[in-house]
Amino acid sequence: MKENKLANSETFWEGKVASPGIAIGEVFLFNQKEITVPRKKLYSSEIASEIERFQKALNLAKKELLKAQNSSNAKMKKDHSQIFETQKMFLEDEILKQNVIEKIRNEKINSEWAYQQVIDEAIQALSSSPNQYLKERVFDIQALKNRIVEYMQGVRQKKLDSVKSSAVVFATHLSPSDLLNLRKQKVGGLVLKESGVTSHVAILAKSLRIPTVVGVEENFHELKNSMPVVLDAESGRVILSPEEETLRQFRVRQEKLAQEKKKLQLLKKKSAITRDKKGIDLLANLEISEEAQAALDYGAEGVGLFRTEFLFGDSSQIPSEEEQFQAYSAVLKKFSPRPVIIRTFDLGGDKMASNYQTVAENNPFLGWRAIRVGLDVPEILETQLKALLKASKYGNLKIMFPFISNIEEIRKAKKILKQVQSQLKNEKVPMAAKIPLGIMVEVPSAALNVDIFAKEVDFFSLGTNDLIQYTLAVDRTNPQVASWYQTFNPAILRLIQISVEAAFKNKKEIAVCGEMAGETLALPFLIGLGIKELSVTPPLVPEIKEKIGKLSFSECKKIAAKVLKMDSVQEITEYLEITCRNLGLEKNF
Ligand code: PEP
Ligand code: MG
Repeated sequence: MKENKLANSETFWEGKVASPGIAIGEVFLFNQKEITVPRKKLYSSEIASEIERFQKALNLAKKELLKAQNSSNAKMKKDHSQIFETQKMFLEDEILKQNVIEKIRNEKINSEWAYQQVIDEAIQALSSSPNQYLKERVFDIQALKNRIVEYMQGVRQKKLDSVKSSAVVFATHLSPSDLLNLRKQKVGGLVLKESGVTSHVAILAKSLRIPTVVGVEENFHELKNSMPVVLDAESGRVILSPEEETLRQFRVRQEKLAQEKKKLQLLKKKSAITRDKKGIDLLANLEISEEAQAALDYGAEGVGLFRTEFLFGDSSQIPSEEEQFQAYSAVLKKFSPRPVIIRTFDLGGDKMASNYQTVAENNPFLGWRAIRVGLDVPEILETQLKALLKASKYGNLKIMFPFISNIEEIRKAKKILKQVQSQLKNEKVPMAAKIPLGIMVEVPSAALNVDIFAKEVDFFSLGTNDLIQYTLAVDRTNPQVASWYQTFNPAILRLIQISVEAAFKNKKEIAVCGEMAGETLALPFLIGLGIKELSVTPPLVPEIKEKIGKLSFSECKKIAAKVLKMDSVQEITEYLEITCRNLGLEKNF
């Protein structure tokens, strides 16, 4: 049998590195176990006890739900309020309960089967709803169904909190809040099937320093919990049932990485400066406000991108103004007087949809995303801008709009900002006197129009994750097309060059906050173009600082000019690999 093969002999699976590192531990299968519900005919004498069994399971599930609700903190309660509410509603639905009881009685069938039939009908109705919010609730109800069936069968599935601290979690996909929970469990690593290296769950894994390999196209059902595993998130390999010698080698490598990390910490207080004394501002990308201290500890000189959409957690409810104010002011205070660029919500795409979304989209990445949502439902943007302006007095705030594709969007967003500003002024709310305004350059039309947009904004930030996706027509989350996702495609390099030159010509700052800013091979090119600000995931700050110290600006300029003349990804990549190696820069991804 295949399970035996995996359990008995060293087996290699391949994927792509999304977050580097080594993990040595045991397999933990997350959400993989399908629950099988048998259909059993009952004798009339068994019906009463079967109904009792069903009611007992409902009560146990209710108790568990209450316990979860009571033990979660205020923030989690809010984030998960809809999940709690939906599940509670289903648990307390008398009609649903009576339907199950009648089914058991009339059809003389076991309670799991009857329950499954009734609840599946409800799930079916929700799944075909055009309302995205209702559709998303299907997962909550499915989870509830599994839980109740497990109670009826007397087996509660292994829960997330039972993940051992060094476990390597295997999942088809994970939500950002699953990942935040796993962080609390201090998991060793992640292996995901359906994710690209710049998908949001991958970015979050990187910022949480959880070694992660994505796009692993294997049958996870062949795995068994607690199987020994090595996750080599340096070369993108998963090694199941590793041999003693393999384990030994990876333990040595893990130790070496830990020592390198310690050494890099010594650079914390140093600035990022090239050999010929060109200073580069090295900032951090934050996914959640709690990361601010870690980013400072890594030596970040500010925040180049705060992705505020993570404030949503798993919920599709817009966070309240107060909740947003708390998060923004906390980060601003921590970093003051250093700059903090806070980006308005980038909802849609592979991030969470808002509860305003009513139409299911065929192409969410080309759909109702980011600034489009904010302009169509101004109260979302207004609430966020209010919270930002109120928080602005605590530090050096810059506001950034995502997913801009035309100048009207900037003008409309600025108009809303002005209205909110004057309303707060009338209310005598203290605010920073000047708040620079910028946009993400992540859609090709924006890259080509930086000179035009320069009239309207103070700064630009290149979002290379999306710029690559939209320029090359490659879904950044789809592992099947990962080889088409080419950072070093000449079209990408040219668009970056056009944007940078246009920004400089118009005396505007331009930074890079996409994942490209943290890629070793991209550093000579970006610095060579004259970029002075890079924003990377916090754990990369010391490493990039060290690498910048090995470069010289005058050499980088030549390297950039040279690659801009090349015509293929292969030629560019090979050249950059050789050049970086010669400069003593070890490739990271
Ligand atoms: C980007 O697109 O490069 C970017 C930084 O934004 P996000 O990854 O949040 O889409
Ligand atoms: Mg983006």
